[in-house]
Amino acid sequence: MSDAETLFEKIIAGEIPSEKVYEDDTTYAFRDIRPQSKVHVLVVPKTRYRNVAELAAADPQLLSDVITTAHKVADLEGIRESGYRVVFNTDSDAGQTVFHVHAHVLGGEQLGLFGR
Ligand code: IMP
Repeated sequence: MSDAETLFEKIIAGEIPSEKVYEDDTTYAFRDIRPQSKVHVLVVPKTRYRNVAELAAADPQLLSDVITTAHKVADLEGIRESGYRVVFNTDSDAGQTVFHVHAHVLGGEQLGLFGR
């Protein structure tokens, strides 16, 4: 992992504004600035790992916290019953652009089978 700070550390620290949906001791959830569906929220662990594979290897409990927060976001957004998607883009072919692992929580409408 590079030492360079990413945008998401600045968002977690409040140095860049974000529209917070949920926060607890280990995770932070905020609206995506370019939503790809009616509900599009990002969930990040407060500790940085480059991608979900590094997070899973280093701290499985923290990965579990991220997933639990994603489902809490679905409850808070009223999409638990209608359904939603949780996506981790992982490295370049998947289009990952911010190298601080984040789950996309997508829903609020009928989603296509794949893609964003
Ligand atoms: P990735 O492509 O999976 O790495 O997702 C990065 C996401 O961060 C994209 O969906 C962007 O729209 C989103 N994003 C980039 N900058 C900001 C911001 O300042 N606030 C909220 N979301 C952002």
